[in-house]
Amino acid sequence: MPLNRPLIVVLLLVLLAALALVKRGGREAELREGRILLGTLVEIQVPRGDRAARDAVTAAFAEMARIEALMSPHRPDSDVARLSAAEESLEVAPDTAEVFALGLDVAARSAGAFDLTLGRLKALWDLEGDNPRVPDDAEIAAALEGIGPGALRLDGRWVSKARPDLAVDLGGIAKGYAIDRAIAVLAGAGIEQASVNAGGDLRLLGSRGARPWRIGIRHPRSAEELLATLELSGRAVVTSGDYERFFEVDGRRYHHIFDPRSGYPASACQSVTLVADSAMLADALATAVFVLGPEKGLALLTEFPGVEALIVAADGATHATPGLAELKR
Ligand code: ADP
Ligand code: MG
Repeated sequence: MPLNRPLIVVLLLVLLAALALVKRGGREAELREGRILLGTLVEIQVPRGDRAARDAVTAAFAEMARIEALMSPHRPDSDVARLSAAEESLEVAPDTAEVFALGLDVAARSAGAFDLTLGRLKALWDLEGDNPRVPDDAEIAAALEGIGPGALRLDGRWVSKARPDLAVDLGGIAKGYAIDRAIAVLAGAGIEQASVNAGGDLRLLGSRGARPWRIGIRHPRSAEELLATLELSGRAVVTSGDYERFFEVDGRRYHHIFDPRSGYPASACQSVTLVADSAMLADALATAVFVLGPEKGLALLTEFPGVEALIVAADGATHATPGLAELKR
């Protein structure tokens, strides 16, 4: 039976309207929420908009706030503040012990380029405070006294300090751990795809719909320019850069990643981007490689199979692990 023309037109219109609704529904279903945590904007994205997804995102933010309360040096009750104030040793939370375990391992393997005992040096420079300044040589020498990978010992949940005035700082690793915890909470709530992005350091859960996530890596000297675009599913991407927190005196840039040997900001790199399964490992290694520079940094990374890096050296030249090219699009 031949359909009449007006009926076909009506059917087509209904079909188009239904398609438009489905498409709009799809777009609304993308959840994107931001909170200020760990001193930066944390954004969680889930390509799903139902109630369970919203609850999971709320729980993931709460988990990151819990980690911040344990590891922030600015909270008098945190494990980090209490350990810095302790004479000798302190029993810390299981989370804090886990961060110390990996941090001390990276500290030892990087020959102290990564260092969890830079608390006094960091306070001296006050880069994150109101009055950042270049300290004099005697002050720097005093802040470096007795620091290093051997100055802390972890025994189960007990952290011991080699000397009472040692101040600990988890600023180079805690954010990565908090990102890992947020991903674990999302996955535990049945979320299969997500992105947790803390000021540019991020970890992905699964893919983004049917496609991998696309992650742009910014140029360290031009915020608008991308060094590379990576396509990834379920991995972490963390960058340490000299452009994130710095001040300038007489045209010299003083930033927040310190070389524990000199007590001055590390000068071998402009930025180091690490790709790893864990954001905590990527965070610690990005800081370590930044201090070590491209040659020694890439040598360290051979001990971590599956970890990829894109390094911009101080002279602007880029260096990468062999496997990075496979992630580029
Ligand atoms: P961001 O926190 O900006 O993402 P990083 O992961 O590189 O960047 O961490 C920088 C922070 O790490 C500093 O603010 C300081 O707290 C700490 N830090 C600085 N130098 C070192 C170092 N050599 N080893 C370990 N931590 C460091
Ligand atoms: Mg780091």
